[in-house]
Amino acid sequence: MALYTLPELPYDYAALAPVISPEIIELHHDKHHAAYVKGANDTLEQLAEARDKESWGSINGLEKNLAFHLSGHILHSIYWHNMTGDGGGEPHEKDGVGELADAIAESFGSYAGFKAQLTKAAATTQGSGWGVLAYEPLSGRLIVEQVYDHQGNAGQGSTPILVFDAWEHAFYLQYKNQKVDFIEAMWQVVNWQDVAKRYAAAKEHGDSLLLAP
Ligand code: MN
Repeated sequence: MALYTLPELPYDYAALAPVISPEIIELHHDKHHAAYVKGANDTLEQLAEARDKESWGSINGLEKNLAFHLSGHILHSIYWHNMTGDGGGEPHEKDGVGELADAIAESFGSYAGFKAQLTKAAATTQGSGWGVLAYEPLSGRLIVEQVYDHQGNAGQGSTPILVFDAWEHAFYLQYKNQKVDFIEAMWQVVNWQDVAKRYAAAKEHGDSLLLAP
């Protein structure tokens, strides 16, 4: 039985236009995200088979595939909710987002500094990757990560709360090679209420991880 399933989009394909075209959203969700869900389920089956047969010749590849597909599934599941056609602006201007706005200012010095760092991290990914705002539970602060593929270059224990997909499939049909234009446009659709909700949940969970004395 499949453990993971493709979540439905919280809006229709055209909801994020003109920042992201309906064609991109449809392909991105129905084909790309779906492939990561299938990949995670298939890999878990292959690992069960390896345990049954005590056949460990492919263990390195299977563990890599698990990290890749599962991280792809998780990041896309966050990505769809991080965006809304009614989004954008700055978090301190939004209702119910005050704690997040304060945490951003405290962790990065200013909102402008944070925005510049996340924009740069996402726009300069080499090959395929993501720019990620994450809650880091040991310091209790927010950090920006530049993730390779879906799973590389990320700190253990940190929880993604705002993710910018910088893979070509996320923008190429509309923005061609102008990745930086796409990332800059992304700020117009950020759903700050969703990011704030994820921040509160990550903080509560992080405090219970017993990482800090
Ligand atoms: Mn993607």
